[in-house]
Amino acid sequence: MQNLSGTSGSLNTHPLPSYLQADKLGPWGIYLQQVDRVTPYLGNLARWVETLKRPKRALIVDVPIELDNGTVAHFEGYRVQHNTSRGPGKGGVRFHQDVTLSEVMALSAWMSIKNAAVNVPYGGAKGGIRVDPRKLSRGELERLTRRYTSEIGIIIGPTKDIPAPDVNTNEQVMAWMMDTYSMNVGETATGVVTGKPIHLGGSLGRREATGRGVYTVGVEAAHHIGLTIEGARVAVQGFGNVGGIAGKLFADAGARIVAVQDHTGGIYREAGLDVPELLRHVAENGGVGGFPGAEVLDADAFWGVDCEILIPAALEGQITRDNAGRIKARMVIEGANGPTTPEADDILHDKGVLVLPDVIANAGGVTVSYFEWVQDFSSFFWSEDEINARLVRVMKEAFAGVWQVAQEHRVSLRTATFIVACQRILHAREMRGLYP
Ligand code: NAD
Repeated sequence: MQNLSGTSGSLNTHPLPSYLQADKLGPWGIYLQQVDRVTPYLGNLARWVETLKRPKRALIVDVPIELDNGTVAHFEGYRVQHNTSRGPGKGGVRFHQDVTLSEVMALSAWMSIKNAAVNVPYGGAKGGIRVDPRKLSRGELERLTRRYTSEIGIIIGPTKDIPAPDVNTNEQVMAWMMDTYSMNVGETATGVVTGKPIHLGGSLGRREATGRGVYTVGVEAAHHIGLTIEGARVAVQGFGNVGGIAGKLFADAGARIVAVQDHTGGIYREAGLDVPELLRHVAENGGVGGFPGAEVLDADAFWGVDCEILIPAALEGQITRDNAGRIKARMVIEGANGPTTPEADDILHDKGVLVLPDVIANAGGVTVSYFEWVQDFSSFFWSEDEINARLVRVMKEAFAGVWQVAQEHRVSLRTATFIVACQRILHAREMRGLYP
């Protein structure tokens, strides 16, 4: 029994909720290690650091739907709001068979860091459903999305928490979410999600934004280390929204995309893959496997490919102590969230490989999501050129700030980004004070 009288000194001021004790090694454990690494740089704000080590709110929901064959299936869904000190929660929704509460917690925390790093006025949140959406019909997917949206409807909203697409969710899923929320509140609330179709309050440039951000920080970093993009060899894991667009922009700038791997296999072509053809192949076949005119590359060989730039743009935990030593790239740009484990981070650092961390490298998506949200509120829509120019400005400014902090403290870009972001979040926390 805890002593709550506050007089005899035996009160444990930081008892861990049970769901935080379970996972020391998964994504949430990795996130905690990253916070521990920056704590010494936070000065007096370190007093508030515990606030970053537990989500503000985590909701687990049962999502029952009727399948096309008449049976009822139940899926587990989550929405986690990690921190809202700087503004409403913001972060994607993932549909994947391996989604867990711990993973969603970590992804929501990385959103807090990312949103603070690029200085958009949001906290961090994330959601997901433990489901393999490829096994569902379109009707089943719609019913799943609508029931999930209704269940988390008690905590989301245009000024509370704004979901967006993530792995296996897209514009159509966002349209269903927006419609369901709107039906429940009795008005068309376009600002409740971002990544919507253009004619439903979506923003031009949003679909390409994450890949464009990856490309933008890649070019900035290449400049710092004297790497020329033209002719550089690039390997990409994941050729979906993020990897596909980043690959296309690097190819357009004269780089050679030599290797691509996704859930359907790996392909290699020393002279460079035809990226527009590959994007067409992926759209028609669901993956890169079977792409004509390329050699087959096995999953393990992918990491040792000769290249200057490696872009992990699939899932977390891909670069580990088992494959980090074989990476030949000069620069790793993390399109995915959490693709590198802390051990692998150290190995890459010791090898002199520059890692552009997820929390800055893939922040282009949420930056244009912010633009979309602002456009929805003002009902005034900007041109694509305007959006891309603003995106590039935000990304360049944020990256320059992080680069400077990294030089000042002689730390990795990941630690530098965490320093900048944690200071912003904890400063807001301190200024707001504790309620009551
Ligand atoms: P997506 O669904 O469009 O693409 C995912 C890609 O990963 C696909 O090419 C798929 O084949 C590949 N993949 C899945 N499992 C794999 C495996 N086991 N091995 C190899 N490849 C595998 O998703 P996305 O939106 O491009 O997201 C990719 C990553 O980028 C995720 O980590 C996501 O959190 C992150 N991210 C996305 C956005 C965004 O705006 N879409 C923004 C920031 C970060």
